[in-house]
Amino acid sequence: MAAEIHSRPQSSRPVLLSKIEGHQDTVTAALLIPKEDGVITASEDRTIRVWLKRDSGQYWPSIYHTMASPCSAMAYHHDSRRIFVGQDNGAVMEFHVSEDFNKMNFIKTYPAHQNRVTAIIFSLATEWVISTGHDKCVSWMCTRSGNMLGRHFFSSWASCLQYDFDTQYAFVGDYSGQITLLKLEQSTCSVITTLKGHEGSIACLWWDPVQRLLFSGASDNSIIMWDIGGRKGRTLLLQGHHDKVQALCYLQLTRQLVSCSSDGGIAVWNMDVSREEAPQWLESDSCQKCEQPFFWNIKQMWDTKTLGLRQHHCRKCGQAVCGKCSSKRSSYPVMGFEFQVRVCDSCYDSIKDEDRTSLATFHEGKHNISHMSMDVARGLMVTCGTDRVVKIWDMTPVVGCSLATGFSPH
Ligand SMILES: [Zn+2]
Ligand SMILES: [Zn+2]
Repeated sequence: MAAEIHSRPQSSRPVLLSKIEGHQDTVTAALLIPKEDGVITASEDRTIRVWLKRDSGQYWPSIYHTMASPCSAMAYHHDSRRIFVGQDNGAVMEFHVSEDFNKMNFIKTYPAHQNRVTAIIFSLATEWVISTGHDKCVSWMCTRSGNMLGRHFFSSWASCLQYDFDTQYAFVGDYSGQITLLKLEQSTCSVITTLKGHEGSIACLWWDPVQRLLFSGASDNSIIMWDIGGRKGRTLLLQGHHDKVQALCYLQLTRQLVSCSSDGGIAVWNMDVSREEAPQWLESDSCQKCEQPFFWNIKQMWDTKTLGLRQHHCRKCGQAVCGKCSSKRSSYPVMGFEFQVRVCDSCYDSIKDEDRTSLATFHEGKHNISHMSMDVARGLMVTCGTDRVVKIWDMTPVVGCSLATGFSPH
């Protein structure tokens, strides 16, 4: 079975199956309807639309619903046919969609936030709708009563959310670059820990409850894998995008991470190899190779009558080095550096050609991607963003053929 899962032709690319056009503004969320040739979209143009594939092969809206405020987030629960829509005005609205996807009934409005809703998760077990927003809080509300159960405030805008359904842990990413892990109770919550590592706002999170891995994507163009289950604080850095990382999806079976960035970049990371943690950057007043002082080290500059140098860091060993001692660049995929980064001369010499073999594949989505979701069972991906276009992709050429069992993309 393992051999089957791991066969992935590296030269293959995602195949664009369909393009859906019609929204008049940024499409903030697009979700594939399981087992249907259908997509639900939410847009800044204030509409929610359900698109079904017709005999012509084209997608046409079967539902077109206009809201009071731009739609900023969405969650869909297929078994109960519930759609939750977050809006720019802070409200979350719940709808029930009919079996044939031709009708959508309004259920209730939740006064979730004072400002733009950024993410929504629905938990059927607890009957909670959990959401984050630009009012700097995470709130959870009872779907039976519609009442607010609890909220927790952060120091900056809460931008994304993941939730562990078994343990009621919530992960909230924010604009300061922090991720907060909270345990939600019926009316209270406790902060378990905060995860700090990104140098830019957190744009997306993905929680894998089986391997207990958290992935975060940020405006610093990087991804961090937090090994929560390992309990040793192990983190892996993944640098391969050239723009803000906006969406993530981890595929348990094949141990691949799919990530999308603002510039349309789609990366598929092989997480089934042993990767190394990137080192902490060391601090020093002088180059740790040639011992020349850095420019703030006035005393040593005076003593040795030398001019201070700029400080740099070798990405592989973390040492503080001068420009002369780190003149070369190399990729180092095992540490997550898929493009060339600064390394010191001795690290450069230690990197062999085979160490530069990429551990990810990179593809072009050819449009802004601010949201992505996958139907893993069918190997399908849907992307959307500021260009108002929704694209449906067959990812089976890049994500391992075992996913495609019984699936025909046409
Ligand atoms: Zn030096
Ligand atoms: Zn080094």
